[in-house]
Formats: sequence, structure tokens, C-alpha cells
Amino acid sequence: MLTKRRPKTPGTPLSDALRSVDAGGPGRRAFLKAAGVTAGGLAGLGALGGGMMRKAGADSMMPGVERVLRKNVCTHCSVGCTVVAEVQNGVWVQQEPGWDSPISQGTHCAKGASVRELVKGERRVKYPLKLVDGEWTRVSWEQAIDEIGARLLAIRDTYGPDSVFWLGSAKFSNEGAYLLRKFAAFWGTNNVDHQARICHSTTVAGVANTWGYGAMTNSYNDIQHSRCLVIIGGNPAEAHPVAMQHMLRAKERNRAPWIVIDPRFTRTAAHATEYVRIRPGTDIPVVWGLLWHIFQNGWEDKDYIARRVYGMDAIRAEVAKWTPDVVEQVSGVPAEQLLRVARAMAENKPATLIWCMGATQKTVGTANVRAFSILQLALGNIGVPGGGANIYRGHTNVQGATDMGLDVSTLPSYYGLAEGAWRHWARVWDVPYEYMLSRFGSKELMEAKGIPTTRWFDAALAEAGELDQPNPIRGLVVMGHGGNTVTRMPDMLKGMEKLDLLVVVDPHPTSFAAVRQRRDGSYILPACTQFETDGSRVASNRSVQWGQRVVDPIFESKDDYEIMYLLARRLGFADELFKHIKVNGTNPVPEDILREINRGCLSTGYTGQSPERLKLHMIYQHTFDRITMQATEGPLKGEYYGLPWPCWGHPEWRHPGSPVLYDTSKHVMEGGGTFRARFGIEREGETLLAEGSFSKGSEIEDGYPEFTMAVLRKLGWDAELTAEERRVIELIGGDNIDDVSWATDLSMGIIRIAIKHGCLPYGNAKARAVAWNLPDPVPVHREPIYSARPGLVGDFPSYDDRRDFRLPLLNHAVQKAALEADVPSKFPFIYTSGRLVEYEGGGEETRSNRWLAELQQSMFVEINTGDAERLGVREGEYVWVVSPEDGRAKIKALVTDRVGPGVVFLPFHFSGFWQGEDLRGQYPPGTDPFVLGEPANGVTTYGYDPVTCMQETKVTLCRIEKA
Ligand code: SF4
Repeated sequence: MLTKRRPKTPGTPLSDALRSVDAGGPGRRAFLKAAGVTAGGLAGLGALGGGMMRKAGADSMMPGVERVLRKNVCTHCSVGCTVVAEVQNGVWVQQEPGWDSPISQGTHCAKGASVRELVKGERRVKYPLKLVDGEWTRVSWEQAIDEIGARLLAIRDTYGPDSVFWLGSAKFSNEGAYLLRKFAAFWGTNNVDHQARICHSTTVAGVANTWGYGAMTNSYNDIQHSRCLVIIGGNPAEAHPVAMQHMLRAKERNRAPWIVIDPRFTRTAAHATEYVRIRPGTDIPVVWGLLWHIFQNGWEDKDYIARRVYGMDAIRAEVAKWTPDVVEQVSGVPAEQLLRVARAMAENKPATLIWCMGATQKTVGTANVRAFSILQLALGNIGVPGGGANIYRGHTNVQGATDMGLDVSTLPSYYGLAEGAWRHWARVWDVPYEYMLSRFGSKELMEAKGIPTTRWFDAALAEAGELDQPNPIRGLVVMGHGGNTVTRMPDMLKGMEKLDLLVVVDPHPTSFAAVRQRRDGSYILPACTQFETDGSRVASNRSVQWGQRVVDPIFESKDDYEIMYLLARRLGFADELFKHIKVNGTNPVPEDILREINRGCLSTGYTGQSPERLKLHMIYQHTFDRITMQATEGPLKGEYYGLPWPCWGHPEWRHPGSPVLYDTSKHVMEGGGTFRARFGIEREGETLLAEGSFSKGSEIEDGYPEFTMAVLRKLGWDAELTAEERRVIELIGGDNIDDVSWATDLSMGIIRIAIKHGCLPYGNAKARAVAWNLPDPVPVHREPIYSARPGLVGDFPSYDDRRDFRLPLLNHAVQKAALEADVPSKFPFIYTSGRLVEYEGGGEETRSNRWLAELQQSMFVEINTGDAERLGVREGEYVWVVSPEDGRAKIKALVTDRVGPGVVFLPFHFSGFWQGEDLRGQYPPGTDPFVLGEPANGVTTYGYDPVTCMQETKVTLCRIEKA
């Protein structure tokens, strides 16, 4: 526990909250009994080792009543642990961890062990609500949908479709995420986004621009093959606890060094063989410092680089500047320690590199990711079991929601927004391209990136002429996303005041409803949880898991599919939206949505994962090997668990899925791969294609471009197309069938023939150490906007100001103004933030779970012991955390040496207090979470990654004052 648990004192916010629902405090024994968690679940709370657990007995909660078992997936983090629910009489009476799951192997963390509470939780929104003169008032679904529809259409008529912002969720199933992206397209806007923007958008941009796909290359399980683990900017012991079992096995069985690079001595660092404390915001200097030693000692994999990497010489030139003394001066890492880490990586191969939001949530997030990727390329660690870029995603389905294009910059499956992408999806949706065009304000807007979730409020506060769209945001529809997740909350609240319409669709009211700046024009619609509906979700390793509906939606809640159907019907495009998706009454069939995804998502190989195959994988979980995740027996023998994408071709091809991306040691039909040829075939006279490197069994024993009809013809392989495949290609290509590619050929004939010859449909290229299309083609260090080292800003300034995402991006101007105002002297503490094991995301859902609330009862700020002594602050006392940008938060001090001198840490899951004021009374009656606290983003500041508009939550400045 982070705080020492003491007997409760009367009158704490938690005890007050609980008193309203239960006279007694929830002890652990009560947790077990009332939460319905059996023995395995309890063990999961305190320890991760499966060996410490025993299976629950077969006893039912209600003897004599038929017991039905249903499998679903924990709805919290991206590990994707299986939950087995026992249902009697339509009631979820008991839960167990999924013992057969190859990923979780019978383990849960505290969040997973208490998910049943999400469904039966009394703090949920129970019926539609409307804000009437400042009071939340019950209304019917019919009234709510009718009024919301009328208001949306009024905004559309007056300001255009781009004046509504659609914010979806990483909590959605794939089918829900896909449906909202498609919904926004039919509404006529690209102003549609979700949590990936604020967690791993920079990862997706960074790795996709390096080797092709924006995803974790290996898997949690595969880490058991690693001989060295390096974790930078991640704390899986709290954020992804069940992943730790795989990491700990690598440490114990392989005697793998475990290196944690982080400003804070985290619970993950407590397992480290080497802990490297860095100044926040200096990831690139540290990584370049490691590479300096690697190059200096000739530890790089020269053969791998020559065959599979483009541009490493340019990296050498930049790295040469980062001598050990310069790195130490900038980052604080001693020279000899960095040499030790570099040697550990070089001598213990393969090494895996794991990162999370400590690296990504920065103005240099994309550049950080690129630097990490280049480090792994230099050591030849990509495309090999035990190596990889193991990027731990955040929410349950943030990978899947990203893949489904719930994003301002692309249509599903990363097709982008250019005309060709729209034409592809119009064909999949079976509507004329011209119809889609007619829904938008213009062709230019149809092909322009939208406004990201990090800045919707800037677009609400802007004047019309300040935006690259006709009018500001006037309507906000939020499905499954907290309001306290964005930085600069004081500005966000001002933006809320400007909205004509706010619609929150969620099982909980979320902080959007509680930080009430509004008296009218707001609605809350009760969405059910993912345990009350069917659908697939993608674990961080790209495995797709089908979750079964455990119980019907409770209270008056509805699932995401039905809510979108009702809205589309009111808005007048339901027939087009659901043209090939069966709707039972008002309930769209998720299996049909997945079949449409399978038809269109060629570019990521999302085509082989039919509902039928995914359901079989859940049934036969016990047949999969627990390290390789390959089925060793039974009807799925040879397939990888969850058919990790790419899973090529039609389901009947039985492609097994790809467990390790870019692994040339396997045939493409066994899950093998190469780096993608996404960026052309040549640059400045140098080939971009692989040289002498190819996947096992490839008939082309060298690099090759992505497959198109032109390439097939050149190879003479086009004659192998069937008549039907050729007919479809001709229909798509018209007068120019040569341009039809593997990613737009809906017959999948081009893919079929490429694979038949042992080739990857997407080509075989080198990974790019130099990404010439990014602001920094070679990653360079840039000081944070609010730097604690003003003397370094001259040499390492932030990005130049620019316009993108329809808005000005003013990193340079804000950094300059901060220096001129002498902010580093007035705000002498470096602020950083992170996650806690008990809660997740914005936290309203988990803080409404009484069993989790009991475990972590207050917001806190970690202050170093020396700093606390100097300030005269004692453990448990309140302090003000004051931001240089108009924010302040009253928070309890936790005095600890986990943070270094001059650094403070805040967890980001809290809301419900604002600048010292308790907002409990502002929630709709009965829906206030048990635990409230000041939001960490109440004191975060300006700063955005120029590639993705990621916000900077991990490094800014603040002042600490005694309260
Ligand atoms: Fe597993 Fe993550 Fe759920 Fe914990 S939160 S049980 S690690 S999926």
C-alpha cells in the first residue's frame, strides 16, 4: 500500500460516502463475500504467482439453481485478463480469474478481482438525465434521444458538422470503436477521438514511422524469452500488474538483468537489478548515451543494420554528441552507470525494451519512441522472440480502438484520410463516395485531420477565424471518457461553458458532469459496461479476445451499439450506417460489425479473425502454450492465441496470427514477417528495401515493394488470379487496375498470391532510423516547455510554432514566455504524474468501486524527504500544488524518497475536488464516487507533441505551499 492504513477516523470523505450505502466499512472478508470473488481472486490481490492460488470449488451461490459460466475480459488494462463469470437466474453471482487464459493464467490484480462490482455497483447512472436549470432531472430514453438529436441537427444546420466533437473510448469493444468512427464519418466530421491520443498516440506514430505498424511487436508472454529487460517510463507493477508474472519469470529463469529507467523509484523499480534515476524529460539523452557506448565498443549488430536498417549513420552522427559527461550533465545519470546498462543490453541478448506513458506523454513523445526503436534496431532486437518494443498500452482496448481508426487522422485500419482511403471505405460500406463527400463541409475538411481530444476546448474557446474549420466546437458527445484526463483543466472548464450541448454516455457520470459549469444543455445517458454486451477487444500484444455478455444491461442502461443506432436513426442516417449490419429491433448485431471489419481492414490483417474463430479461441484457451501462445493440440493446433494481427486472408485460410512482428525466421503463413515497405523503394540514391533479408520460404530472396497489380504483373503472377478476383480488382481499379494494391483489393486475391509465393503483401523494406517526414527526422533532445534547467533551453529549444490539427501549436512561444517570466525560479519543483494499481484512467469508475476505494482513499502528492523538511511539511498534511498556468490543487503530502529532490509525483486518477472545494454535491444524486480528490490535471500546463498533439503530463513545473 502506498499509504499506511490506519483505523478510519469518523468524517473522512470515504466513510461519509460509504455511510450512505452501508452502515459498515468494507473489510477484506466482506470484500470476498460481497464481491463474489473466490479464492483465486483474493490471491490475485496480494500476489501474482499462480502457484499461490487454488481453484474455487464448484459450489454455487444459489444451490439448485442452474449455473451458467460466461467468459469475458477485464475491462481495465491492456493485459487482457480473462474473467469467468458465474450467472444464476440472470444475476452475476460469482467471478473467478480465467485459469485457462494463456495471458493471465489464473491471476488478477485488485481491479480485475472486483469487476463484478462494476456491473452491480450502486453508484452507476441508472436512467437518462437532463440538466434543467442546474438540477439533474430524470427523463425517458425517447425524450433524451429526441432532444439530443434535435440539438445536434440545430448545431449542424447553423455551424456545420465539424462543430460537434465525438469523443469515444478505449473501453469500447472493437465493434463499438469501429461503429463510432463510422458514425462520425456519416455525420461528416473527423473530429472524433479517444484515449489513445493521451496515452500512446506518440507510440503509434513513432513505431509506425520506423518499421510499419503502430503496435507492440511481441507479447507479454514472449518476454519470458528475454535475457535482459529494460523498462523506461513505465511502472507495470501498478499499471499492468499481471504482465509482471511474465517479466518476473524472465528475471528468475533467464537470470535476466532488470533495468528500470525512471525519475521515480517505482514498485517496478523495486524489482530492478539496476535502477537509473533520470531528470524528467531527458529520455533521448539517456538513450543516445547508451548508444554512444554501444557504438564506441562495437556492440551494435552490424549485419542486421546493413540488411534491415536505413539511415543508421545519421544516428551515429547525433549520438556522437552525447558523450558520457554531456549525458550526465543533462540527465543526471552517472557515466559508469550508463556504461553498465549498455553492457548489460549488449551481453544479454535478446533484450526487450518496455515503455509506457512516462515516455510518451511529452512534447517529445514521438521522438522518444523513435529513439527507443532505434536503440533496439542497433542491437538487432526487433523481429526476434525475447526482443522487441514491448509497448504496454493503457486501457483494455486502446490498441483495438486505435486499430479501428477512432482517431482524428485516419479511417479504420490506418488508411488515412486521403481520397483513396475514403473510396476504399465507401466500397466496404456499400455507399457512393459522393454520398460520403456530401456529408462533410467540404472535400478539404473531409481529408483534413480533426481537432484532437487534448484541445477540443481550445476549439470551443476560439473565434471562428482562428480555426482551420468554419466554426468553433459547439457540441460535445463523450462516450466512456473522463473530463479530468486532459491537461489545462482550468481552460477546459471555460470551454465547457461555451458548449450549446454536452452529452455524457457512460455507466458513471464522469467528471464532465460534476465539474459543473453549466445549468442547461447537458444530458447523461446510462451506457452499460462491456460485461453487459458482446464484442471483441485487443490485448496489448494484438491478440483479439471475444467477450461474452455476462448479464443483460442493468437499470435502464443500454449498450454502445444500441445507443449509436438510436442516435443515427434520429439523425437520419441509420439505414446507410447499418446497411450490412443486422439490427434486431434497435440492437445491432456485434458479430455482423466484426464481419464488416474483417472485410475492410486489409491493411492490418484484421481479416482472418472472424467471430466464429475468436469464440473458439476463448473455448479452447487451455490448448495454448503459456509462453509461445501457440495451440499445441485440439482443433486450433498451430494457431496463436487471439490470432494476433496481422492474421491474413479469409478466415478459412486459417492463418495462425503473428505472435512477433517482423520475424523473418518464420514463413508468412506461420506468422512470419518483414519490415513494411511504406515509404517508397529508394531515397537519395539509396535503397529503402531490405538487402539479403527475407522471411522464411520467400520466393523473392531480397527486399521488395508492397504488392499491387502492377507488381503482380511484373512478376508474371497476375495469371494466378481467379476470374472472380480479377473481376473485383477491375471494378475497383476501373481504367487503372495497376494501382489496386493488396490493401484495397477487396477480393484479397493480391494478398493470396503474395502469400502463396512466401511474400508479405506489404513488402519487405528496411526499418527507418531516419524518418524524413517527421519534425525531427533524427530524434534530438528538446527541453520541456517548462524546463527546470533554463540554461539548457538555448541549446535544446522546444519545437517551432506551427499550425496543425486545425489549431495553432505554440510550444516555442510558451517556452519563451516562461523563461521571460522567470518561471523556473518561481516554480522550483518538477511535476510528474503516473498511475496507481487500485485505479484506472480518470478513475470515476474505479473510485466508484467500493472494494477498490477501500484500498486507496486519498489523493496525494509525493514530496522528497529533504524537500519536505525544508518546506516544513509533514506526512499527511495538506499542501497547495500551484501551477505556472492558473491552476492550484490542495492535496495531502506523502513524504518519501521514491521521488528525488526537487521532483513531486501526483497520481492522475482523481477528481471531484476543485481547488480545495468538495464537489460531491454536484454529482447527480447517488452517483458520486466513494473517493474524490483533486485532479492532477488541475495543475498541468501547455505543451503538445507536434506529430500527434499528445499532451505533456509527465514534466512541467510547480510550486509547493503549505496549506
Ligand atoms: Fe489484468 Fe489489467 Fe485487469 Fe489487472 S487491470 S486484472 S492486470 S487486465
